[in-house]
Amino acid sequence: MTASRTRVALMGATGSIGTQTLEVLRREPEAFDLVAVSGGRRVEQLAAVATEFGVRHVGVSDESDRSRLADLVSDDVNIVVGEKGLRELCTGPDVVVNAVMGFAGLPVTLATLEAGARLALANKESLIAAAPVVAQARLTPGAQILPVDSEHCAIYQCLVGSTEPGHPDVARLLLTASGGPFRGWSRERLRGVTKSDALAHPTWSMGPKITIDSSTLMNKGLEVLEASALFGIGTDRIDVVVHPQSIVHSMVGYVDGSVLAQLSRPDMRLPIAYCLGAPERLAHHWGQLDFRTALNLQFEPPDREAFPALDLALAAAQRAGAAPAWLSAANEVCVEAFLEDRISWGEIVPLVARTMDEYVDDPLADLDAVVDNDATARRITHANLPS
Ligand code: NDP
Ligand code: MG
Repeated sequence: MTASRTRVALMGATGSIGTQTLEVLRREPEAFDLVAVSGGRRVEQLAAVATEFGVRHVGVSDESDRSRLADLVSDDVNIVVGEKGLRELCTGPDVVVNAVMGFAGLPVTLATLEAGARLALANKESLIAAAPVVAQARLTPGAQILPVDSEHCAIYQCLVGSTEPGHPDVARLLLTASGGPFRGWSRERLRGVTKSDALAHPTWSMGPKITIDSSTLMNKGLEVLEASALFGIGTDRIDVVVHPQSIVHSMVGYVDGSVLAQLSRPDMRLPIAYCLGAPERLAHHWGQLDFRTALNLQFEPPDREAFPALDLALAAAQRAGAAPAWLSAANEVCVEAFLEDRISWGEIVPLVARTMDEYVDDPLADLDAVVDNDATARRITHANLPS
């Protein structure tokens, strides 16, 4: 029985997506075997996961984490370190869930695809920053990306049957957005936003970085870039629709006028389970809707004036090359600075825009160029932060 189980590696096992992936795996012990996990700073939590699931291969960030972890897990656990270690863990399993936060997830994305395995991708930053390099790695026989991000997982499901490259039968992708905690707020009112306001998302419970990205709508901007890279559809065929209930996770409008949507209550365990099990569906009811009670679904256009991050992302898509990488890197630096109380909420997007003003076209030819561009954008953004 064990031999037929799908071997899963979970990178970023201690975070929000990581923890929810573990919940799915706990329900499906017959179907999945967790063979490798990685984490960042939460070493005790990582050790508990490794012990509970009997995981034999564990990745940590540095040598001091290795010795802390070694004291907490059994002697036969193989502990690997850093980026090289992450890459090792992604070679061998059938499915790798990339639940690492930010650009640090890039080795996971590339190593999994280069190994010809299925990548269940939550880490949008790696795809956005390295789209041409990831596209090359996707050509490896057996390589496959299944998007965990709820909007993209919805689109993936609504695209089943649309098989031609570039999807000529699709008129538009309609990415839904909850609108975040500040939907309907004017520019004036947004000036007083505090950290706790920004961390209080109305419909999703997520890690801090993506929660802040959702409050600025940068998350939706990044998701437009993510959708374009995933599905090979230009951003001129992608619209953002604000849908406060987070029930319709996204839609695909076809050329005959038909619109397909995927619905559930907001619960990331549903897209995670879909990515692990596809093309089969796991028989658990994550986020099930009850149509016996009244259900109101509301849709409205985004306020692009109050939330300029969306247009900033579209401008980066237009410039292509390394522009999306710069946008994502600058945003990571600014969100971290905001979370450390170094800048205000209202400074995040203008500071990203300031970095983008300095962008010089680069075609992003290879991985070295990706790493260089990420470092340059971070350096410029750091230099613009208040000291
Ligand atoms: P969290 O911050 O909750 O978790 C991030 C995970 O990555 C943790 O396991 C963390 O380890 C690890 N990590 C962070 N930095 C590093 C690093 N430098 N090297 C190695 N590991 C690292 O984030 P989320 O789970 O919210 O998000 C993860 C990804 O999924 C992001 O790209 C996000 O955009 C995407 N996503 C998340 C959604 C959600 O609902 N949360 C929805 C859609 C997409 P540790 O905690 O031990 O330090
Ligand atoms: Mg999303």
